[in-house]
Amino acid sequence: MAIVDLHLHTTYSDGRLKPAQLVRLCADRGLEVIAVSDHDSTEGLDEVFETASELGGLTVIPAIELSTDIPGSEIHMLGYFVDRHDPELQSALTRFRDGRGHRARRMVERLAELGVEVSWERVKELSGGGAIGRPHIAQAMVEAGHVRYPKDAFDRYLSRDGPAYAERAKLTPREAIAMLRANGAVPVMAHPTYSASKSDRDEVAQLREILTELKEEGLAGMEVYYGDYSPDQVEYLAALARELDLIACGGSDYHASGNPGEPEPGSVGPPLDAVDALRAASGRAAP
Ligand code: AMP
Ligand code: ZN
Ligand code: FE
Ligand code: FE
Repeated sequence: MAIVDLHLHTTYSDGRLKPAQLVRLCADRGLEVIAVSDHDSTEGLDEVFETASELGGLTVIPAIELSTDIPGSEIHMLGYFVDRHDPELQSALTRFRDGRGHRARRMVERLAELGVEVSWERVKELSGGGAIGRPHIAQAMVEAGHVRYPKDAFDRYLSRDGPAYAERAKLTPREAIAMLRANGAVPVMAHPTYSASKSDRDEVAQLREILTELKEEGLAGMEVYYGDYSPDQVEYLAALARELDLIACGGSDYHASGNPGEPEPGSVGPPLDAVDALRAASGRAAP
């Protein structure tokens, strides 16, 4: 068990635990430092901080996860120590969430064309007004009896090359890095390589070259200790992070997704010195 988990989601994006529930679970599991990193939203963070201070003993790093496009694939960019009171950031996040809403609607329409009826109202309800994502559609498909687990919905319909997939406008990785740096957040590449449990998650092609380029733009780290990565994957990424002088970060990417075998909070995470390195890179003082 790790004492640090720097990748967690709540109901403000596609996680299924409320911030307070997630924080309590993390504390119960013995975590000491957590980062809550919802997709395109910082709205859960007030509740995260409130709950953590009620419980005591848990350090919280405010974070965000942005999706970016590269040709034929995507890269997720985490931003640590994000300043959620930055109006420019918030207006960009509102735009991204709007884009997510339209795109989710298109995917529900595509599913209907394929004879897979899910209620758009139910999908919206499952999103709880937060950043809507494919996991909400997948959950509605489970409820409607079309698939057994959310993951099956991805495997059969919702993955990038699946028949119901729809695109939305996204940033490029360098735009995301610039946006995070302008905010004062520390950019870290999420899950840089193949994940066995996520069907459309390919290895980032030419990872070394891309990391080298993005480091010049301000990339500070990448995930190494991630989700279901095997010891070989972790070893490969740890060596690459050392070689390129990137902070080796990581976490469970816990969503309470309902998929069998999902990594729980604290089942994987980086050593504590990753937290010190992120804090130093942010220029923010320790609490
Ligand atoms: P979206 O942000 O709408 O593109 O959805 C991406 C999210 O879907 C990721 O953050 C994961 O939580 C989830 N996801 C992606 N691929 C899979 C998969 N194969 N099985 C289950 N969940 C997945
Ligand atoms: Zn997610
Ligand atoms: Fe991600
Ligand atoms: Fe994530």
